[in-house]
Amino acid sequence: MSLSPVARAALHATQKRLQVQMRLGEEYGRLREEASRIRQHAVDRLPDLLQTFRRRLRKAGVPLIYAQTPGDVQDVLRAIVERHAIRRLVKSKSMVSEEAGVRPFLEGLGLDVWESDFGEFLVQLRGEVPGHLVAPAIHLTRYDAAETLSRFFGEHLPPEPEALMERTRTFFQKVFADADAGMVGANFLLAEEGGLVAVENEGNLLRTLYTPRVRIVLTTPEKLLPDRDALPPLLRLLALHATGQYFPNYVHLHPLGHDGVPTYVILLDHGRSRIWRSEFRAILRCIRCGACSSVCPVFRAGGGNRIYRSPYGGAMGKVLNPLLWGRSHADLPDRSLLCGFCDASCPVRIPLTSMIRALRTAHPELAMLWQMFPRGKGWRTLSSRIYRIRTAPPPGNSPGDGDGEARDQPAPKAPYPSSWEARWLQLLTEQATEIREDSPPPDARFVAAVGEAGVLVASPHVLNTDRDVLRVQGPHPFYPTLKSFLEAWDGQEPRVLFGGPSRTADIEKVLVLGAHGPRKVTFWLTSSSESPP
Ligand code: SF4
Repeated sequence: MSLSPVARAALHATQKRLQVQMRLGEEYGRLREEASRIRQHAVDRLPDLLQTFRRRLRKAGVPLIYAQTPGDVQDVLRAIVERHAIRRLVKSKSMVSEEAGVRPFLEGLGLDVWESDFGEFLVQLRGEVPGHLVAPAIHLTRYDAAETLSRFFGEHLPPEPEALMERTRTFFQKVFADADAGMVGANFLLAEEGGLVAVENEGNLLRTLYTPRVRIVLTTPEKLLPDRDALPPLLRLLALHATGQYFPNYVHLHPLGHDGVPTYVILLDHGRSRIWRSEFRAILRCIRCGACSSVCPVFRAGGGNRIYRSPYGGAMGKVLNPLLWGRSHADLPDRSLLCGFCDASCPVRIPLTSMIRALRTAHPELAMLWQMFPRGKGWRTLSSRIYRIRTAPPPGNSPGDGDGEARDQPAPKAPYPSSWEARWLQLLTEQATEIREDSPPPDARFVAAVGEAGVLVASPHVLNTDRDVLRVQGPHPFYPTLKSFLEAWDGQEPRVLFGGPSRTADIEKVLVLGAHGPRKVTFWLTSSSESPP
């Protein structure tokens, strides 16, 4: 028996996450407690944070547009397109833009619109909806990807992730060179700093933010945080729960309006202010990691997000979709086994199962269906058994057999070093950054570093280049923790925290170099600096 691409990828992401959780030991529990508290506090203060954010953006000369509906977003975009004579727009992955129907709308206006995230690009070419919050092409095999790209490029491409990525890289160099506008989403917004925080692995978001002549940020109000102090546990848990990484490959700290590039921030409400006033407020804590999709037996068996008729799948989709779209999605809470895996996997402790139950009661037709099924312990046991049957490798499947799910199971690793410096060096090496101790070449740029995150820190222009090899030296200065780095950051200049070369695992979870950004990062460990990064 072989698993579907969705089930295999979801299992792989969950296994990777659990492995890192084990290596973190008690540190993980502390991060989760802190992250839940921070998100609940931010959501409770949302009206205040929105006022502060609005004031900051006004000072920076950045228009903030609050759109009530997807139709309002489209009206605003039409005005921006006309004002700046935009013909080509490049996007980074954004589920809010899917929610607002942005790409079909802009294409209808005659624009050339490209999704720059590799998985999202495949989904665009196939005319599908993303299969997962953080892995849009989760439902595709390498053969699907090769067939799709061969058709698009009009040439035969082999079903090899590396070859497919190489071909896509060449295509996007031209797309970015000609793009008038870049559209990005946000993982978080910093009210006090008027800042955008966005994470990624491929480097396409970096190019989307810093290459075109007009910048559009489309997101939702609940992404607001009071200030940068809230970031450390959230950044660490977002990467871990999304892809099983210790830390994202790139984290962008971007003060909105800092560089004079015309910038627009659009916040889509679409019923979120109503949700804020309801008993379902806690769903606004969601940081879109997708862990509750990856562990969900219905999501795995149903082949990804397609069954949710929305970009939001898994347990959070069963809660959020009916609240956003109402009756047309009122059946989704019923598509749950109430097994509780989602509650256990959520980094910000959203009580998803209780909310699904409450939504069934809220909709009479769902309540009726719910009466037909047994409740309580017996139901829980049954659902757990279904989960095991659908996800466990077949009996007798030894390492190396079958189609790889047993072979792919990560081996246990030693806990992370408790010294931040030792952990930093270990993580950089694990992220494929070459570390050297000989004399750096004259063109090696100076970078800082953050021990806790296992990353280097630079200005975006150091990274936003077509160069294949990035040569850097440092760390000057070395910040032991994320907190110490964020306290020292002036909040005025953008910074990128990065761990290694561009990469992606969009096709069958095979980790390869991504279609954007440097293919290699070489870092010279030096003892003194001549200039700060
Ligand atoms: S509900 Fe929790 S687990 Fe699901 S996507 Fe949101 S933060 Fe992640």
